[in-house]
Amino acid sequence: MLVVKFGGTSVGKPERMKKIATLLLDTPGKKIVVLSALSGTTNTLVRIGDHLLAQQQTGAQQEIAELEKHYTTFINELYTTEAYKAIGQEIVSRYFSLFRLLAAGRFDERSYRELLAQGELISTELFYHHLQERKTPARLLPALHFMSIDENNEPELEKISERLKPIIETMSNVDIIVTQGYICRNHKNEIDNLKRGGSDYTASLIGAAIRAEEIQIWTDIDGMHNNDPRIVKKTVPIAELTFDEASELAYFGAKILHPSTIVPAQKYSVPVRLKNTMDEKAFGTLISNKGTSGEFKAIAAKDDITAIKIKSSRMLLAHGFLRKVFEVFEKNKTSIDMVSTSEVAVSVTIDDNKYLNAIVEELENFGSIEVDQNQTIICIVGNHLADKEGVLRYVFDSLGSIPIRMVSYGGSYNNISILVDRSHKDKALNLLNEGLFGLK
Ligand code: ASP
Ligand code: MG
Repeated sequence: MLVVKFGGTSVGKPERMKKIATLLLDTPGKKIVVLSALSGTTNTLVRIGDHLLAQQQTGAQQEIAELEKHYTTFINELYTTEAYKAIGQEIVSRYFSLFRLLAAGRFDERSYRELLAQGELISTELFYHHLQERKTPARLLPALHFMSIDENNEPELEKISERLKPIIETMSNVDIIVTQGYICRNHKNEIDNLKRGGSDYTASLIGAAIRAEEIQIWTDIDGMHNNDPRIVKKTVPIAELTFDEASELAYFGAKILHPSTIVPAQKYSVPVRLKNTMDEKAFGTLISNKGTSGEFKAIAAKDDITAIKIKSSRMLLAHGFLRKVFEVFEKNKTSIDMVSTSEVAVSVTIDDNKYLNAIVEELENFGSIEVDQNQTIICIVGNHLADKEGVLRYVFDSLGSIPIRMVSYGGSYNNISILVDRSHKDKALNLLNEGLFGLK
């Protein structure tokens, strides 16, 4: 069984939705199809929810009316026959009545989450009826019947698996099972979600839960690229990545995958393939256990990083110093990304400044503190990079005279992280593209 996920842009226009139906018909075998909401819908639902929480009825009603127009046009282009246009109209009216009902009631965080869930519910229902109109046997599988998170908002993979397997068995007579990405139930059995961009995560959880043959994530670019195409002119798709390499890239800013996506797939070694809806023939990127060693694979960058240096003569020959420093971050619920130490100082980076003031205040008990904001982590990813001779020389030679604030190497087999001021980022990415990949 395959798990095939399509993002918002792949279902965001009627002709795209038709195209993915064709694509599924051309793919042999059984598949669970995970859909996002139509592109822009979740953002609009967020705006509606924000208006309602702030008790701005007019703003909310305007957004609802505009969104309704969008869906009305959409169904009229999606369906061909009058009968299905009527079904489409009934679906749209039903959802928009619900939006107005939610807007009229006492709107709280719980209603907000219920509102956010409607994007995926409507996209899957519209798509399912499109398949029906094309006389393609398919079933609609409600994600709220099996997808759940615990009290720490962590997906309950075992339970998901236990619930999902018997349901799927009852659907053995069809090849296409359509379900919603992103949405789930929480430990109170309320409607909740896997956070923005979470449909990828849904696909991976399903893939792991049923031990699928492969998880395919279809987007509108041809796989993960070796560098950021918004900043570097020439980038190339990466054909193969290991799970570890892909997680580093997803975390460090390659926007194509939700950062948690890899975890469940990796746990059960289910390969993840990234494919391009606009160019089906393109190979895309295959993420699996297999990897080639000693090769640079990709570069990713993460902005809005803050570096904090703690300098203390008390650190000299003392034990337990790092623990005390780290405890300050733990207490302030802030995670550390990079660390580098010398005998009298330690530098760390964080990507969330919410508790920066409190952290700095407490760290001042240990020594003098320096804070540099607007930094960027550039992460160079590869498999067993240390096996490559002179690996750091390539990196430093490429970077030339760019000032480097911190380096972290050897923390994993897969990554070299470099911290530079945000103002040097674009140049650094271009220089590394040339130096490590010969791309200009
Ligand atoms: N529709 C949700 C979002 O826009 C989930 C997803 O598309 O992955 O965040
Ligand atoms: Mg996405």
